[in-house]
Amino acid sequence: MSLDLDGLLRSRIVDVPDFPTPGVVFKDISPLLADHVAFAGAVDAIVAHWRGPGHSGRVDKVVGIEARGFIVAAPVAYHVGADFVPVRKPGKLPLATHETSYDLEYGSNVLQVHQEAFTPGDRVLVVDDVLATGGTAAAAMRLVEQAGGVVVGLSVLLELTFLDGRAALPARDVHALVTY
Ligand code: AMP
Repeated sequence: MSLDLDGLLRSRIVDVPDFPTPGVVFKDISPLLADHVAFAGAVDAIVAHWRGPGHSGRVDKVVGIEARGFIVAAPVAYHVGADFVPVRKPGKLPLATHETSYDLEYGSNVLQVHQEAFTPGDRVLVVDDVLATGGTAAAAMRLVEQAGGVVVGLSVLLELTFLDGRAALPARDVHALVTY
């Protein structure tokens, strides 16, 4: 039986208007995570993409971006046979970190990664739940490179194409399971 993965994932991603602030339509992936067929299908599709045509190189490490990125990245790492590395908000990682900041509409955000997380030359896949403006993913990729890793690409469950996140990720290999 073939699975309409796109349709299944869309049916499990719910719009929540005006969350967390007025005017934002939050894409809630909780129903997707709560459906083991949808969640497993999403993880398997990400793994298959990076093992598929044009992506024959190995993946040594999978980075998950706090917090929902962790949920998707960890099973991807397990299935790819790669190590998992968390990219976290400030003050969460106990050892020496690299850090980078990026601008938001109002203010800025900081992300950190352990300095010892990568061996120079490690091939690294970055995974998050949503690609919106691309600032978060671009910052995570900068961190990987600061720490000596080589970015293979980015996978997300869903991409908000009207925010043109790919413009913030020039020359990056970007993979989204569902686009809006
Ligand atoms: P950005 O840096 O603008 O690409 O935003 C990506 C990050 O913000 C991801 O880690 C998402 O978890 C979160 N995010 C941004 N926009 C949304 C949205 N509309 N619904 C859910 N999460 C979002």
